[in-house]
Amino acid sequence: MIQLTDIEKVYQTSTVETLALNRVNLTINRGEFVSIMGPSGCGKSTLLSIMGLLDEPTHGTVTLSGRAVTSYSDRELADLRNQRLGFVFQSYHLINDLSVLDNVELPLLYRKGISGKERRQRALAALDKVGLNARTSHFPSQLSGGQRQRVAIARALVGQPDIILADEPTGNLDSVMGEEIMDLLLTLNRRDNTTIVMVTHDEQQALKTERIIRFFDGSQVN
Ligand code: ADP
Ligand code: ADP
Repeated sequence: MIQLTDIEKVYQTSTVETLALNRVNLTINRGEFVSIMGPSGCGKSTLLSIMGLLDEPTHGTVTLSGRAVTSYSDRELADLRNQRLGFVFQSYHLINDLSVLDNVELPLLYRKGISGKERRQRALAALDKVGLNARTSHFPSQLSGGQRQRVAIARALVGQPDIILADEPTGNLDSVMGEEIMDLLLTLNRRDNTTIVMVTHDEQQALKTERIIRFFDGSQVN
């Protein structure tokens, strides 16, 4: 599904050069649930941004469904991000003055050929999947952290992406809510065959996924 070949990422500031990723080779297969672990600063977020087509590697190739990402135009890349990838962040990134339903509909607004009615139906279906269909007209401030993350997951799912990229999705939640979100992700993976790549610091959570990829200092260690 996503293949990284010889990925290197160098961050250059006026005084320092950081090798954030060093010759990373990995393949994420369809239907997998993979965790990425490693100490702070080892390159996890950089890796997720490159997989999410938010940032370009300094060297190496990202291949999405068999096609090198460099062969796409900027316009095509934006469409790929919008249509094939779903993002979940530690801090939810919901829009506070939009209702739950409007937040979830948002990714579909930029797509051609989807009517308002279909948008609504698909958003309701996504909210149903995360168990939040009783909260559609609430605003984010009226929800618990766990519920907010469920909305964010529904927003990631609504476009039926090939892959969900989650950057510490339970990092802001207490252990009970964190476990609920983890169980939800496991259900989405097992029941719907959703491919998930998750950065986490939580070893217990990582052990529940199919594969753990460990990083240290920009390199994969397993
Ligand atoms: P992690 O997510 O594992 O904490 P990051 O991918 O955020 O690690 O960072 C990897 C390394 O790259 C770190 O040394 C970090 O300081 C550096 N880095 C990350 N982003 C930038 C940036 N925009 N400019 C310069 N250095 C960066
Ligand atoms: P943190 O883990 O520090 O809370 P987040 O998980 O919220 O950070 O965000 C991870 C990275 O993704 C950040 O570098 C942020 O700038 C970027 N980011 C956050 N939201 C979006 C978005 N909607 N689209 C693109 N990039 C985003």
